[in-house]
Amino acid sequence: MTVWLRGDHLVRRRGPLADRPDDRVLLVESESFGRKLPYHPHKLTLVFSAMRHFRDELREAGRRVEYYSVGSFREGLEAYFEAYPGETLVTPSPPTPSERTRLEAMVESAGGSVEFVADERFCCSRAMFDEWAGDADGYRHEDFYRFLRRETGYLMADGEPVGGSWNYDEENRETPPDDWTAPEPPNFEPDELTRDTAAWVRETFAGGYDAEPYGGDWADPETFRWPVTRRQAVRALDDFVENRLTEFGPYQDAMRRSEWAMGHSLLSTSLNLGLLGPAEVIKRAIAAYEDGDAPLYSVEGFVRQILGWREFLRHVYRREMPALAEANQLGADEDLPAFYWTGDTEMACLSDVVDGVRRRGYSHHIERLMLLSNFGLVYGVEPRQLNRWFHAGYVDAFHWVTTPNVVEMGLFGAGVFATKPYAASANYVDRMSDYCSGCPYDKTKATGEGACPFNALYWEFLDRNENRLRSNHRMGLVYNHLDNKDDGERAAIRERADDVRSKAERGDL
Ligand code: FAD
Repeated sequence: MTVWLRGDHLVRRRGPLADRPDDRVLLVESESFGRKLPYHPHKLTLVFSAMRHFRDELREAGRRVEYYSVGSFREGLEAYFEAYPGETLVTPSPPTPSERTRLEAMVESAGGSVEFVADERFCCSRAMFDEWAGDADGYRHEDFYRFLRRETGYLMADGEPVGGSWNYDEENRETPPDDWTAPEPPNFEPDELTRDTAAWVRETFAGGYDAEPYGGDWADPETFRWPVTRRQAVRALDDFVENRLTEFGPYQDAMRRSEWAMGHSLLSTSLNLGLLGPAEVIKRAIAAYEDGDAPLYSVEGFVRQILGWREFLRHVYRREMPALAEANQLGADEDLPAFYWTGDTEMACLSDVVDGVRRRGYSHHIERLMLLSNFGLVYGVEPRQLNRWFHAGYVDAFHWVTTPNVVEMGLFGAGVFATKPYAASANYVDRMSDYCSGCPYDKTKATGEGACPFNALYWEFLDRNENRLRSNHRMGLVYNHLDNKDDGERAAIRERADDVRSKAERGDL
């Protein structure tokens, strides 16, 4: 038997690597993976450097590792089975049944066989989720989260939520005072192996993200900063719990022009690569609460993201693919405006956030949801196109997690768990950020030159999707507001929305 670990399964302490201490390990570094999309160079550096570090650590620990740097997974597998004919590979199960079938066929045609085992990067097994979900054709995150709290016992006492409440939403929606500054997040200086990998990425994948119409002629983001080893990931977790967890809670929905990380954990890359396990991250945060080092509203807010959303979306993806990737229940068919790649817009919020994505391959959750997705939603961007953009540009993006977040949570594409679209006007952006004060667009105006594009697009979105959305009881209030607008006002809104789209198409927004 051989333990085959794909590049986002760098789990050593649990799973097949721990269960089979004497078996050989196979790692295949495939160039074709890096060419599937115009990936951000930091994403490619992250995955390939983490794999290379993992290989070296395993070898230092005395494991036999076969490492192939090849054009495709198929080539790697063929080379392996030529050396070890008929071998059986043991590997964590991929995210969907169809991917499983594809891998099985690939391994068999290369001359071996494969056994799938549980994916150790998650807490909730398939069986557990399927039992919870039953045959329902929709899913409610809040129910799932409570179910999993009960199952795991995290933040539970005598069958009840610690503190008496399942969530502390009210305490999680504050904005920081003007003089607040976020604690500096850790920066993991690239070592020689990461520097070499970054140089190799730049050369090998030239013509991707660094080329037009993508990132364009810039190819020089900030120096790579993400953890690429287990040791670094643990340091990142320590740093978060000690320095930022307390402020994660109140400010998790807030946005600040000068604070790209706010109090966020920056742990998604390590969780998604398997360098950290969700259980250890959750337990560490809960221990901080129990030791009196972090308030419950921050710890619960953080646990909800990992135990709730991350686990939930992984299974929704498994059950709803392949339809989810193509879902488009609102029939949105606009092309993605070029400024998503270039950052070239006068809108202060979008320009700043896209600039951050270009620099670091990261923006925090509320920027993803309430700026980038919200704009795509009200503008009417085809979900597939925005999904591709997120998938290509973010260091933590993998199809299983990007797709449900973008297509469903962000763009209300399928209606399998989102109960209403996350559509908002400049009002929301102004309340939760400091962007509007320095923006040439007027947040108070919906129509005419200089009006904030979010406003006309928001009202026009409601107008355009009235047939589908008005009957949604959660949308009643906003449709009452729309009803208060007379025909003239509605026409002016449509005109401004058309104007915004023309400007965005011309690269002039
Ligand atoms: P924190 O804000 O500190 O949250 C802690 C952890 O909770 C994260 O590290 C992550 O593991 C988990 N988490 C929080 N929210 C979610 C969520 N909605 N889905 C899954 N996990 C969650 N997350 C990704 O890992 N990869 C993606 O490609 C991705 N794309 C997204 C696209 C959109 C449009 C939206 C709205 C969200 C997306 N997310 C994605 C979820 C979330 O925004 C990121 O996990 C988070 O911003 C990562 O930063 P952080 O580690 O500082 O997270």
